[in-house]
Amino acid sequence: FILYDICRSFTTYFESVVLYSTVKLKHSQSQQLGHFVPSARPETSSAKTLMDIGTRRIFNEDHDLFRQNVRRFFQEEVVPHHKEWEKAGQVSRELWEKAGEQGLLGVMIPDEHGGIGGDLFSAVVTWEEQMYSNCTGPGFALHSDIVMPYIVNYGSKEQIERFIPKMTAGKCIGAIAMTEPGAGSDLQGVRTYAKRDGSDWILNGNKVFITNGWMADLVLVVTVTNRDVKTAAHGISLFMVEDGMKGFHKGRKLEKIGLKAQDTAELFFEDVRLPADALLGEVNKGFYYLMNELPQERLLIADMAIASCEFMFEETRNYVLQRKAFGKTVAHLQTVQHKLAELKTEICVGRAFVDNCLQLHAEKRLDPPTASMAKFWASDLQNKVATQCLQLHGGWGYMWEYPIAKAFVDSRIQPIYGGTNEIMKELIARSIVSQK
Ligand SMILES: Cc1cc2nc3c(=O)[nH]c(=O)nc-3n(C[C@H](O)[C@H](O)[C@H](O)COP(=O)(O)OP(=O)(O)OC[C@H]3O[C@@H](n4cnc5c(N)ncnc54)[C@H](O)[C@@H]3O)c2cc1C
Repeated sequence: FILYDICRSFTTYFESVVLYSTVKLKHSQSQQLGHFVPSARPETSSAKTLMDIGTRRIFNEDHDLFRQNVRRFFQEEVVPHHKEWEKAGQVSRELWEKAGEQGLLGVMIPDEHGGIGGDLFSAVVTWEEQMYSNCTGPGFALHSDIVMPYIVNYGSKEQIERFIPKMTAGKCIGAIAMTEPGAGSDLQGVRTYAKRDGSDWILNGNKVFITNGWMADLVLVVTVTNRDVKTAAHGISLFMVEDGMKGFHKGRKLEKIGLKAQDTAELFFEDVRLPADALLGEVNKGFYYLMNELPQERLLIADMAIASCEFMFEETRNYVLQRKAFGKTVAHLQTVQHKLAELKTEICVGRAFVDNCLQLHAEKRLDPPTASMAKFWASDLQNKVATQCLQLHGGWGYMWEYPIAKAFVDSRIQPIYGGTNEIMKELIARSIVSQK
């Protein structure tokens, strides 16, 4: 038995040496040849920190370089001003233009349409770096990866040429207005109505909780255009409403418990005359467009949720490593160590699932129920992580000056917008029971 054990140890040692040398060789070959070797990139669970650059096989070295720039942008242009923007309830216009100059807006939009022409994973870098900066004021992701795709996918050549270059430059801020005081989860309950008048449309109604609403130059408005259909979904259209149009008023910036620097607003439309070319895509097809685009919105929320978990975890790890109690650091306590072990495991499990969804989406294979699973699970996890990380900060975690306090309140909205998590479960459940 002893001989067997010794032999086995030698074999294992030998295998490790061979494996290590192969990985090193592959890595150095890949560096020499400039090739991307997926196995050479550690996954989040093996990385030194959960926010390390150069990790995860969905990315490559170009993404790493881009990430460095985006990280620098958020640290230099956003973090130092965010407190002041939290008081103002909005970020500055200048920031949008700077983001445009740096190529951070419309990253995924093809360059022939006036976008940056990057891949999905480059856009993902911008989502994650924003969460790593813990600054939720700039509504870049909604503008670039929720609003702009509607224009590119359903807009006319003229509409694309007119808006996309300005949006990429940060000179035209986009918003999408679905929710109304009486219609949130149930989009078919929308009352905002546009009536034909010759070739024009006359728009009346109001919207609430609109992200980027106060600063928006262009709002995609979900509107009823046919009241005589059997199901409301067949009578909904999307209109492009521009700031300054007669009868379009912005209400107050809404006072929220979190997202303090985000200009969420109410919007009012009183006899707004819209020319025929304000209609996006075909009349009465709006609901189908929404159904097509919502999975990307949900995936974006899921990825930002996991990125926020990664940020909160690292913030908390740093805190407990220096905070003293009973003559030692808090990190010495086994209960704290176990809590960190649980949190890290859950975050890495979530990261693996969301990265898989990102990969599927890049291959156009992400189905809507799977996107809903990602949104529901990741945003719930974000809130769990927020509660537990704040707890590990003790009373200081409740103080606004500590980043974990902001991350905690900002987490709360994630299970609500983009379709509540209850609605996500409805969508997942429907796909389960309809399969048999
Ligand atoms: C900060 C913020 C930003 C937002 N940004 C935007 C934006 O940019 N554009 C936009 O259009 N909207 C936006 N929203 C609106 C958001 O999408 C809605 O608040 C959300 O969809 C829920 O709608 P509601 O608030 O009307 O809740 P309701 O629909 O009234 O729901 C109330 C409760 O009932 C539950 N419920 C409803 N129906 C069901 C069901 N069938 N089964 C089970 N439970 C159900 C819900 O899950 C929820 O818990 C934003 C909201 C906030 C707070």
